[in-house]
Amino acid sequence: MEFGVALGFLALAIFGLQSLFSGRFHWIAPTYGMDNIMHFHRKMGLVAFLFVLGHPITLILTDPGFLSYFDPRVNLMRAIALSFVTVAIIGITVTSIWRVAFKLNYEKWRLLHGFLALAIVFVGVVHSIQVGHYLDPLWKKIALAVIMGASMYLVLHTRFVRPWQNKKRPYKIVDVKPERDECYSVTLASEKGRRLTFTPGQFAWITINSSPFTLQQHPFSFASSASDTTVSFTAKSMGDFTGTWKDLKAETTAFLEGPFGSFTPEPDSHLFFVMGGIGITPCMSMLRTMRDRKDTRKATLLYANKNWEGVTFREELEEISREINLKIVHVIEDLPEDEELDGEEGRIDQDMIEKYLPPEPNTYMYFICGPGPLMDVAEVAFHNLGINWRRIYSERFEIV
Ligand SMILES: Cc1cc2nc3c(=O)[nH]c(=O)nc-3n(C[C@H](O)[C@H](O)[C@H](O)COP(=O)(O)OP(=O)(O)OC[C@H]3O[C@@H](n4cnc5c(N)ncnc54)[C@H](O)[C@@H]3O)c2cc1C
Repeated sequence: MEFGVALGFLALAIFGLQSLFSGRFHWIAPTYGMDNIMHFHRKMGLVAFLFVLGHPITLILTDPGFLSYFDPRVNLMRAIALSFVTVAIIGITVTSIWRVAFKLNYEKWRLLHGFLALAIVFVGVVHSIQVGHYLDPLWKKIALAVIMGASMYLVLHTRFVRPWQNKKRPYKIVDVKPERDECYSVTLASEKGRRLTFTPGQFAWITINSSPFTLQQHPFSFASSASDTTVSFTAKSMGDFTGTWKDLKAETTAFLEGPFGSFTPEPDSHLFFVMGGIGITPCMSMLRTMRDRKDTRKATLLYANKNWEGVTFREELEEISREINLKIVHVIEDLPEDEELDGEEGRIDQDMIEKYLPPEPNTYMYFICGPGPLMDVAEVAFHNLGINWRRIYSERFEIV
């Protein structure tokens, strides 16, 4: 029985900590990286799921009398609350793993996820206090309620307090520019003086054309130089948010939350990039900043795209390569037979990466961003080629 009770407390403790991982807090995100935090959040969610279900199952197996906790004739409210939590924990887990298969759009999922998480924690705390096991004397009950209350506040802080703070720092769109491969660059200027400061490679959550409290808040890497007075982002037209970028007009209001992320170069390292498609945006910010700051470090870019026509920023990259110490290798998947390319045909693989690896690999930092399969290949390749893992940085756009 003690084991069953312990599972319940452990599940509650994990739920309490989850709001720290999902809340985009500046004091956690830079140290561990957003990808890693989200990955950890997902894994811990699964552990909590097993613990929550393991809690009643273990107790009922030990003593079938515990089934009465689910009996409405014994205690209606308790039976409803515990049945709700059981359904909610299954619901939150299933919709998180199979969100796309359920055709649940990100915004509705996020709302449901937050609501179910808060409800589970609330019922869990009330249940623990009512049962009182290990929670006598009173101060322990109060301590539990305060700790879990703080955790629930973090969720509310992320969803309400922070958007309210962002509302006081609005931006205006000053330019919308079409790019190759159905991408659009949007440039924003702060309406209240200085824009937020960021390090190239970081990203922000953007809200356009509505209040900062909307559910339509999306992450985008800064694409502009850190030396510009404005900030710009480039999105590939994908769905209901990015699909609207082509119709955005100057003077439209936008809100930014950030910066986030640790996909950022150290000042004294040379840079090696493996980028694919729209994954080029954080690299653009780094290269544009290097150009503006007359940075003399070496940089190599392996840039994978399906076809030559769709190579976003192709012309500007060419210009930048004439101004800084940048070597670009275009890797094109579908190259027409009659077309010549000063680069590689096919897909990036370990042999190709090895071919362009610099002679002193430990003076470089390695940045990977692009479609999932490309990132998997590059991560494994760098590992196999003996690159120190501390020098390898990945940014995955599909975090949810
Ligand atoms: C750190 C980071 C940086 C990114 N930088 C860029 C960039 O520079 N350029 C670019 O084109 N894309 C970038 N993305 C991806 C971009 O956020 C999604 O493509 C965009 O949110 C899709 O929204 P949609 O409604 O247009 O498309 P949908 O078709 O609704 O969504 C496509 C997929 O994008 C993801 N997504 C949707 N909404 C959100 C959201 N609010 N938050 C998180 N993920 C979401 C989901 O996995 C979803 O399945 C970045 C993502 C991350 C995590």
